[in-house]
Order: sequence, then C-alpha cells, then structure tokens
Amino acid sequence: MYRTTLFSLSLLILFTLAGCQPADDAATAGDGADLVLLNGKIETVTNGVVEALAAEGGRIVAVGTRDDVEKHIGASTEVIDLGGRLAIPGFIDSHGHFMGVGDARIQLNLRETESWDDVVARVAEAAAQAEPGEWIRGRGWPQDKWTAVPAPNVEGFPIHDSLSAVSPENPVLLTHASGHALFANAKAMELAGVDDATPDPEGGEILRDGNGRATGLFRENAEGLIHRARPAEGTPAEMRKMVELASQECLQKGVTSFHDAGSSFATVDFLKQAADEGFLGVRLWIMIRAPEDELREKLPAYFTRDYADHRLAVGGVKISLDGALGSRGAWLLEPYSDSPESTGLNTASLDMTRRVAELAVEDGYQLCIHAIGDRANREVLDVYEDTFEAHPEKSDLRFRIEHAQHLHPDDIPRFAELGVIAAMQGVHCTSDGPWVPDRLGDKRSEEGAYVWQKLLQSGAKVTNGTDAPVEDVNPLKSFYSTVTRRMTNGELFYPDQKMSRMEALRSYTIDAAYAAFEEDLKGSLDVGKLADVVVLSKDVLTVPDEEILDAKVDYTIVGGKVAYRAE
Ligand SMILES: [Zn+2]
Repeated sequence: MYRTTLFSLSLLILFTLAGCQPADDAATAGDGADLVLLNGKIETVTNGVVEALAAEGGRIVAVGTRDDVEKHIGASTEVIDLGGRLAIPGFIDSHGHFMGVGDARIQLNLRETESWDDVVARVAEAAAQAEPGEWIRGRGWPQDKWTAVPAPNVEGFPIHDSLSAVSPENPVLLTHASGHALFANAKAMELAGVDDATPDPEGGEILRDGNGRATGLFRENAEGLIHRARPAEGTPAEMRKMVELASQECLQKGVTSFHDAGSSFATVDFLKQAADEGFLGVRLWIMIRAPEDELREKLPAYFTRDYADHRLAVGGVKISLDGALGSRGAWLLEPYSDSPESTGLNTASLDMTRRVAELAVEDGYQLCIHAIGDRANREVLDVYEDTFEAHPEKSDLRFRIEHAQHLHPDDIPRFAELGVIAAMQGVHCTSDGPWVPDRLGDKRSEEGAYVWQKLLQSGAKVTNGTDAPVEDVNPLKSFYSTVTRRMTNGELFYPDQKMSRMEALRSYTIDAAYAAFEEDLKGSLDVGKLADVVVLSKDVLTVPDEEILDAKVDYTIVGGKVAYRAE
C-alpha cells in the first residue's frame, strides 16, 4: 500500500554533473566552509544530537552548537537553515543492484500489474511501438499478488501462448518480482534455441506443463538459456543511461552510498569511468560477481578502498548459493510447507564456494554470499567457520551473508560468534510476509524469518537495504518496515523482531558502513568524515509510525555539496 510512483514531477531534481564531481576545491582561508547547516536536529548517530554542522573540502569540519559552527561561515559558504528539521547521515543501502535500478526505469515496470492479462496488454502496447526483432523487456511481475490466478496455469504461473500471440515479431523477456525467474515468449525461446526438448540445466528449471511443453517460465540457472540470446550488459549508451537514472533516483530518495551486490569486472570498469567523468552521483561499494577462473585472475588488481575520492570502492565478492522464497528457489533444511516434494535449489557448488572463500581471504576481499533458505545459510556459515579457522592470523574479515532471511534457530547465534554480517532488507519482510507462512509454516516463520532482534541481541551486525530494483530503493519505506513489520496487507509480521528507530537508523548508516570497512569514513556525522547528509521533512525518529512514510527528502548532500533539493 505504500508504493508510490518512482518520480514525482513536482520535485526539482538538482542532480547535475557538476554536483557530483569529486571535491577538490577546499575553500581557501577566509572563504569559510563550503556548506553550513544551522538550527537543526542533527542526529550524529555516534555522538548524540547537535544543532549545526560545517563541511569543507568534502568532509565534516565542525559539529556542535550554532556558536561552534557559525565561525566557519565565509563569503562563499552556502548556509542552510534547517528550521528544526532532522538531519541524519546519508542512507547507505547495503544491498542493491545499481545498474539494475537504472535498467528497471528503462524496462516495462510490471510491479503493479494486477493479472496476467494486464501483463499481456502492456507487452502488446510495447510491441505495437517496437521495431521487429527489438527486445521488449519488463520486470517485477508478482503472480502471488495478482487478483486472479492465470488460466491456464502451471503451479500458478501462466503459459506463454497469450503473450506470444501479441508479440510474434519481438522477443520478450519478463523478470519475476523476486529476480529469480523469468518469463519468455515464443520468439525469445526460438532465438535462444530453447524448445520442449531442452533439458533443465543444473540448478535451474524450465517449468513444463503436463505434456512436457515449456510454459515460458525459466527458474534460477535456467534463466541463462534465454539471456544467452541477448548481450548481457547492454550498449555503452544504455549503460550510461542506467548510471544516470540510478544516481538520480538514489539521490532523490536520500541514498548517498550504495553496496552493489554483484557486478562483472567489465561493469566495474564502466563505473570507474562514470566516477572519473562525474556522472556517478552516489558512492558505490561493489561486490564482484564473476566465474571462478576470472576471479582468480583479476581480483588482486581490482581491490580498492578509495577510487575517485571515495566515489567508488571494490571490496566484495558475490556468490549466490540459493534462490528466493517466492519462486520456491530458497534452499531449505526441510521441504516447503506448500510443496512437500521440494526443498528449493542449490545454485552454486560448495566446493567452488570454499575455493572462492580462500581467494577472498588471500586478496583482502569480503565474501558476500546470497543465502535465503535455512539450509543455504547453514552451509555458508559452515564454509565461513572453516575458512576462518584455517586463517587464525586474520581476525577481522567481515564476511557477509546477503539476505540471511530464514534461519534455523541453532544458526542465529553463529553470526555474532563468527563475526559474520547479516546484510538484510527490512522491506522484504513486509512485502513477502503475507505468504512466508504458506511456504514455511508458522513455526519456521516465527523462529527464523527476518529475526532482526534475535541477531542484534546475540551481538551480530545487521544492515539494511532494499535489493533494488527488486524493491523500491526508498530507504524510508524500508525504515518503516523495519520499525513496524507492518505488511502490505496491514497485519504485523511477528512484531517482536522489529527494530527501534535508532537501531533501524544504525542499520542504514554506521552498521552499513562497518559492513564495508568504511566506518571511519561514513555512517555518522563526526568531524573528519565525508559530509554525506540527508535532511528530512519529518522527524522519523519520533513521529508516530503512520507518519514515517509522509516524510520527504528535502536535501541530499554528498561530499558537502547539495546533490538533490526538493522544490
Ligand atoms: Zn540482490
């Protein structure tokens, strides 16, 4: 119910090329600071609340009372009177797909579709405008949320004939809301050389009907069969558009740093160029995703904690060990409650995972493994435990589990014991919550689903994010989910596991910075740190729950420069 349009036209976007150049213009003596914020409720996160802040040369140079900070005002200082508003460190989305955020704005947005017929109608409209042979892509279709089950269907998923009939000349590729399955039309299957006889690849499935006919749904590793018919990364012009659109959207929503959960080496090269040329609007911390051989060859040369004045860092290696719960790809210890033959999918070999863990330790990277099901989480913790034991000389590796969504109770304390970071997404809990008990049953859901408090109380670090474009990158939505656990249907999902406002803020700031070895640079408003600040129209730390989503981002400041300002 709290989804809104991605871009409100009433807002003025101040994201400009000049605004995101690396700061190299420290004010000369007498000019004063670049930016001063006065008269605010400035939550530093680490040192309480202050009323004023000054930034110079991209860094925070003063925080404190008006008297402490006013002396930094010079002839060229931009002074903003906050009028009592809340300022906090810029939000750090600690798990998303940066290029995907831009690409999602280029593709058909199917998140709000209400039925399969609705999807088919939108593709028909796009096909009418497309050249023959041009790919039509869409993403975000949620068959669980449709008002009617498609007819005909297999396991609740549609069959491609009606889609293929409206798009005979254009290949169509529609990514599922979970990002872990796609739907293809007949033309796309033809171009990909897939037919009813094509066998399922390892770790994937071509969903078939009772006669063995391919329905059009490709799960997990089977998606690659369709992807091979189309260039994976798009053209440089498309990629530039993706970076610009993703930057704009992040800045407009108050995100100043973004942990990119899996890019190829080639994409990293492109993003470095974007940072050099000044069109990368937010700071990225990137996890590399590549085949093992390529990782072995290239990882040593790509590690960086500081590229283009902290605009970009490469510090993680990403592997996905299972799929998502929605498409029953999450790897479980016990079968699905609503599909007793299935325990989900293991999408990467454990031997490879162990070897890559060694590589990560050798080359100084954090390993970041996607694990959603309780079996996948246990396997990752086992690999991490063995890897850490083999390297007693390394005490602070900060390996991460991406999602850590469904945990066996025995495994919950292992995060803190091993120093493993739980990189979770508050908003997933409330959008998926309505059907989680169908998949897992009530007992597993209560004991181990999105158990933020259990993890925090055991001493683990829990970060926050959106997995955008799977969810809207808006941190206020995920913050609201995190502090309420109020689902889209209005009910609460095991609310004893919700976070306090300050815990949620930490998960989106200082703890997210810690999860990238950046806690000395970001995540709090202390002197010496990067001047990344967000000003909100409402005090989301104190307003009633139901007002949190009314808060607007008034300013997004990156490196002491206003990068976005509401009208
Ligand atoms: Zn992801």
